[in-house]
Amino acid sequence: MLLGLTGSMGILPLDASWDLDYPRFMETVDKKTLLAVGAHYDDCIFGVPGILLRAVQKGYRVVILSIIGDYTNWAPVGTDRQNVLIQGTKRLCQDKGVEMRFLDYRSMHFGVTSETKRVVCEQVSNIEADIGLLLWPNDTHPDHVVASTLTNIAFRWSEAVTGRRARRPDTLYYYDNGPRHAIGFEPDTFVDISDVSLEAFAWLGSLMALVQGEQSRAVASAVEAKEKLAAYRGGTCGVKFCEALKSFNAYPRDIL
Ligand SMILES: [Zn+2]
Repeated sequence: MLLGLTGSMGILPLDASWDLDYPRFMETVDKKTLLAVGAHYDDCIFGVPGILLRAVQKGYRVVILSIIGDYTNWAPVGTDRQNVLIQGTKRLCQDKGVEMRFLDYRSMHFGVTSETKRVVCEQVSNIEADIGLLLWPNDTHPDHVVASTLTNIAFRWSEAVTGRRARRPDTLYYYDNGPRHAIGFEPDTFVDISDVSLEAFAWLGSLMALVQGEQSRAVASAVEAKEKLAAYRGGTCGVKFCEALKSFNAYPRDIL
């Protein structure tokens, strides 16, 4: 596709077919992208739903990438409900203005290999995120550890892996997977999610209900854990509810 400069509007395509995609193209011009990557379908919606909702409110394109997309070896889903989980999760995210993508990997059946690095790098570099969120790597769940390493590589070393130009996000933050998973996570960046907290908790509840069933105790316990953690993080900096991140790098801030 040929490209031309159009002042503050950015870059517009000049070839004959450009007008077919014009509305969609203009939607993405100057729109920042936030990409959150998890191992499982629920990692980001447990870890950072408030941040994702706030990003949507601020006009970001928001994408979640779940490295595991095959849940047939997980009892609550199995072969029978695989499609229910994938389509249902995508729908619940779409309802919030969030795009949900799945790769094809299965729990405990993927590692940090040349193949997985290439696949994750290609996905991540195509999304072209301005802000990236990745799982904290020190975690009791092996899938989280592998996913964190693959995401780190994909956000920062896609060019080396794929051999193609890829932009790195301007800022990267770790998020954690909460009690019983994350080990030694000491956040340094707090995001007030009080104004979207009810919606964030309800989103998580709907997702848990989709997979575990409305009556499952797992639904209430996941939402309760999220509320407690958000209240604890909020208490750290004097607001009702927060989500907490750890900056991947030190980023200079103008404090005046
Ligand atoms: Zn997980």
